[in-house]
Amino acid sequence: MWDFSTDPEFQAKLDWADRFVREEIEPIDVLFPGNDEPYDRDSEVFREVVRPLQARVREQGLWAAHISPELGGMGMGQVRLALLNEILGRSQWAPMVFGTQAPDSGNAEILAHYGNEAQRREFLEPLLDGRIVSTYAMTEPTGGADPGSFTCRAVLDGDEWVIDGEKWFASNYPYAAFVIAMVITDPDVPVHRGSSMLLVPRGTPGMEMVRQTGLGGEPIGEGAHGYLRFTGCRVPRENLLGEPGTGFAIAQKRLGGGRLHHAMRSVGQCRRAMDMMIERIAGRETRGGPLSGQQAVRQSLADTWIRLEQFRLQVLHAAWQVDRSNASGDPADARVARLHVSAVKAATPGTLVDVLYRAMHLHGSLGVSNELPLAKMWQSGPVLGVADGPTEAHKDVVARLLLKDAEPASDRLFGSSHLPARIEAAREKFAGRLTGTGAAR
Ligand SMILES: Cc1cc2nc3c(=O)[nH]c(=O)nc-3n(C[C@H](O)[C@H](O)[C@H](O)COP(=O)(O)OP(=O)(O)OC[C@H]3O[C@@H](n4cnc5c(N)ncnc54)[C@H](O)[C@@H]3O)c2cc1C
Repeated sequence: MWDFSTDPEFQAKLDWADRFVREEIEPIDVLFPGNDEPYDRDSEVFREVVRPLQARVREQGLWAAHISPELGGMGMGQVRLALLNEILGRSQWAPMVFGTQAPDSGNAEILAHYGNEAQRREFLEPLLDGRIVSTYAMTEPTGGADPGSFTCRAVLDGDEWVIDGEKWFASNYPYAAFVIAMVITDPDVPVHRGSSMLLVPRGTPGMEMVRQTGLGGEPIGEGAHGYLRFTGCRVPRENLLGEPGTGFAIAQKRLGGGRLHHAMRSVGQCRRAMDMMIERIAGRETRGGPLSGQQAVRQSLADTWIRLEQFRLQVLHAAWQVDRSNASGDPADARVARLHVSAVKAATPGTLVDVLYRAMHLHGSLGVSNELPLAKMWQSGPVLGVADGPTEAHKDVVARLLLKDAEPASDRLFGSSHLPARIEAAREKFAGRLTGTGAAR
């Protein structure tokens, strides 16, 4: 059955989350707007304000909603998570308050699947509890979109891995208790068979931050991301997560969820921008009437709603495909889910840029100013066009999967839709039955 309704019990949870985000978390956003601030566990705002709010989220049973119940999460599935993430996407701090922030969500999944008991105790438990944050380091300064170019290596020396190389844009490194680094362990085979995941605790000698990097507009030397260098950095043999050579496969599994979750939250960002747009055009006077009286302005609002609604349905459908694939375990379903996730990833930046641009534009100078959040929200469009893989790479995945079973037509010159051949075939099909019509000729 196709059904677009939400069951009343879960809707009540969503209504609670919506009120909670607007009343309790958005005030934190306006006082602490720095991109890295939610990750600083030692800050006063985290201790005094966020911790008590996290406890209230736990009481509602909404903590770490992406994680399976065995690990203390709700295991609610991707469709329900999409509905919740739409609400959390309104706010920069909300994912942290609800325990669903990237990259900790994906790192927790890796540790849960591949960590040994001691690693789970030392790193996974405090991570799931929100007491520490973590970093995922895959991209290198020479290029992130092509893992074939990665050179950061790890070599086994006795009972230790020795890591040498660099990583770039490792989010939240300035505050992270550990890093999960993708490293080349076998340079003689392609990267999808020669890379592995290593757990590197903070403070391990040989791991240093060359500098902190941020997004455009943030001062040089500040920001949430780390440019990392490993020089003879040694970690115990058992810090390998998963089998040697499975790093790429683990990365793909991990990144799939993150890409979809960004898209879910982007729906929330866009809806917030559209709400602001509606409020503005209903109230702003121009040429003796409200801005909403102008036909071009109404067209802009309608285009915004249409684009957002299309995107939202695409995100929910992709979430449904992932749930379906997880339930069946069928590789064919996993391929379909991958196609949908990449398609959503490719659609996210354009939707954000388009919706946010319209909202900004209709607010005039106020829209582009530093007195509204729209310009910063707009920036997440270009950012999400690059983070977790550029749009072109995801479109390539979409096209590759669509072409996977493609067969050329038997008539390679004109194709199977060529009308002269189809008319001939249709005439043959109805031969002797349509003698009184022109179709028989
Ligand atoms: C905010 C943010 C957070 C990030 N966090 C992390 C993190 O925590 N950990 C981590 O490992 N990385 C992280 N990254 C890095 C991110 O994954 C990379 O930026 C991304 O994979 C692209 O790599 P690149 O920046 O080296 O760009 P390049 O690989 O140099 O690509 C640049 C451009 O070239 C074009 N291009 C590249 N490949 C193709 C192709 N196949 N076909 C057509 N065009 C192509 C695209 O236009 C692309 O945008 C983050 C990035 C951002 C912006």
